[in-house]
Amino acid sequence: MVNQSGRINPSGASLMIKPVGAACNLDCTYCYYLPTHDVYGDRAHRMHDVILEEIFRTILPEYEDHVSICWQGGEPTLAGIEFYEKAMGWQEKYKRPGQVIENLLQTNGTLLDDEWGAFLSKNRFLVGLSCDGPPHLHDKYRYTVKGDASSDKVLRGLDVLKKHGVEYNILCVLNDVNVKHPELVYNYVTKLGSRYVQFIPAIEWEDTKEDYVQGHAAADVGLKKISPSAVEYGQFLCKAFDMWNTHHRTHLSIQLFDVMLNQYLFSRSTLCINSNACHNQLTIEYDGSVYGCDHYVNHRWQLGHVSDRDWRHKKVDDTGMVALTVSAGDEPDEDWYEGLDRDVFETFAKRKLDLPEKDCGRCEYQRFCYGGCPKHRPRRGEVTEKTVLCEGYKLFFEHAMPTLEKIATHYRHYGELPATEAEIERQKQVKSGVIRPGQKVKPNELCPCGSGMKFKKCCKN
Ligand code: SF4
Ligand code: SF4
Repeated sequence: MVNQSGRINPSGASLMIKPVGAACNLDCTYCYYLPTHDVYGDRAHRMHDVILEEIFRTILPEYEDHVSICWQGGEPTLAGIEFYEKAMGWQEKYKRPGQVIENLLQTNGTLLDDEWGAFLSKNRFLVGLSCDGPPHLHDKYRYTVKGDASSDKVLRGLDVLKKHGVEYNILCVLNDVNVKHPELVYNYVTKLGSRYVQFIPAIEWEDTKEDYVQGHAAADVGLKKISPSAVEYGQFLCKAFDMWNTHHRTHLSIQLFDVMLNQYLFSRSTLCINSNACHNQLTIEYDGSVYGCDHYVNHRWQLGHVSDRDWRHKKVDDTGMVALTVSAGDEPDEDWYEGLDRDVFETFAKRKLDLPEKDCGRCEYQRFCYGGCPKHRPRRGEVTEKTVLCEGYKLFFEHAMPTLEKIATHYRHYGELPATEAEIERQKQVKSGVIRPGQKVKPNELCPCGSGMKFKKCCKN
């Protein structure tokens, strides 16, 4: 989970909490988390206050100076405002002087009302709102448990956030349908008024229930139909990049593009998927069980329980890379996630760099890609094979990296991102007298950015 509030070089540790497990009022076709119902039995769960307090009592005194707590589900608002008010109280009680805690709520938005708006605003939550594009695309796979469309309720929730001045980002899941409409989806989600947007590919496998619960990945399992193909995903990213670069790069954060800029500027990734290990995505389920990541909540990968006491986070080193092995001469680090199963955690974290030499080992983009997410590899990363998204990543890297490198160089020199291509083109036209300073361009005139499109279809947006 990237620190969603930082454009450049966010630091610190993040922790994901699942207050109601996978319980949700929606039943989205592609949801990666609903299958965890089979790990925990029926659907209705809620974290007990004892567990909630224990999380902050044991973690905050040992955690880093800047901690991101991501509340996620299922649908985390089902826990109710009273639950979160208690959480805020315990955060205040147990945090160290000067320790900064940032709360993020990832929600489908359909249950937000004025009471929620006031609470989220007062406690300065950053809200992640799920929206997969215009209603006809969003409602393709995101519907209620009764089978009703959800887009109108999401837009109502968005209005609540705007009314109460809550900061929010948009999380857009790319599936086999909306991935084919990059311009439509990009234009829609970037007009929802957020400064942060994430495009997440829905890569889901056809596991059997038993294999999922046990954390076993069978050899002959294919991808679900709802998953976008690698090429479609890559093409979407290329188009989105061009639109961002032309119109939005100074004032809109697209997660993957920011991650790449961080790689250029600071040689560190702000997203687990593009880093060297799965070490910074600890997830606590409603019953206090701890996992290395919420994509691996199953019996095999459980690391421990919050009541195992005093498990703590080892700080990353200066390069942002966590030290997963103790070098010769080093003192054994007894505090390393004390209380969690170190062997399981190391195995889990290091699997990410088990990459095929013939592909990733020789790939010029390896230091940006790190082989992507293990879950996106055949057998969920149990075998040494590259991600099913590799072809898409390469399309994107080849297309965008030269420009991203130039943007990073500009940032290094001037401490800010360069003006957008549209702004630069307009400045050129003002200088050469083609248009006057401040001159308004009519909607049907050619766009001054030189795209060849009408202004109303291009930079006016
Ligand atoms: S499996 Fe690893 S890369 Fe994938 S989401 Fe989890 S922590 Fe991130
Ligand atoms: S782009 Fe493909 S080959 Fe290169 S590191 Fe990523 S997954 Fe491996």
